[in-house]
Amino acid sequence: MLEGKVAIITGASRGIGRAIARQLAALGAKVVVSARNATLLQELVETIKGEGGEALAVDGDVALGADADRLIDQAVAAFGRVDILVNNAGITRDSLLVRMKDEDWDQVLDTNLKGAFLCSRAAARVMTKQKSGRIINISSVVGEMGNAGQANYCASKAGLIGLTKSNARELARRNVTVNAVTPGFITTDMTADLPEKIKEGLTTQIPLGKMGSCEDIAHAVVFLASDQSAYITGQVLGVNGGMYM
Ligand code: NAP
Repeated sequence: MLEGKVAIITGASRGIGRAIARQLAALGAKVVVSARNATLLQELVETIKGEGGEALAVDGDVALGADADRLIDQAVAAFGRVDILVNNAGITRDSLLVRMKDEDWDQVLDTNLKGAFLCSRAAARVMTKQKSGRIINISSVVGEMGNAGQANYCASKAGLIGLTKSNARELARRNVTVNAVTPGFITTDMTADLPEKIKEGLTTQIPLGKMGSCEDIAHAVVFLASDQSAYITGQVLGVNGGMYM
């Protein structure tokens, strides 16, 4: 399904990004996986190779322009093109508004929003020349709904939706589509630390009655990365068990 395509996934060392990388590779894409933890990335490369796929690790911090440029450059150097960029790297630094530190705001915005901007800018330079490409931004249901204690995170994720729509309008003429996926509550390291009571409370707000899996998100990304979604751009695809409609 994705044979011959080259896909870059940020935040691929664990969780949702790792699942996305494995699914894209299983469908034939050559995947370039990125995050800061080089050891975990190398383990993922070995896993993907063991599953018959092709993969390259490029470690770096998405919040740094030089690292974002190097990520795209190394993908082109290794595989000759960039067809799919998944901006998935993300962090939380939760606290109530009145207690939120400047650095908690800056770190979250720099990673979640500026990181996606930097990688999109670098990838768009390649994709517009190719006259084809797919950019998929991993936002969040709380970017649509808001969430107490997550002003920084929700602002970054709502910002990603604006970035998605602007870039979709700007790049459409060059046959580059840009879409966002908004996961609901997904079982990963990011949600592992939530107290059981809070998890139970959250689950009652989900019509499908359970948290989602990393694979649920990866399936949506695969669709948006594939030729089957060629006429879809600037859209926000909620994968949230009905939590937000
Ligand atoms: P996770 O398990 O904490 O993984 C986050 C990934 O981002 C890791 O691979 C991490 O790798 C990478 N990362 C963090 N900061 C980075 C930086 N500065 N530069 C490069 N990579 C960085 O999180 P997850 O739950 O899989 O979440 C993945 C994405 O889905 C995030 O954007 C998150 O906001 C979004 N999301 C998650 C949920 C959920 O319920 N889990 C819900 C909605 C949206 P390193 O630490 O090695 O850099």
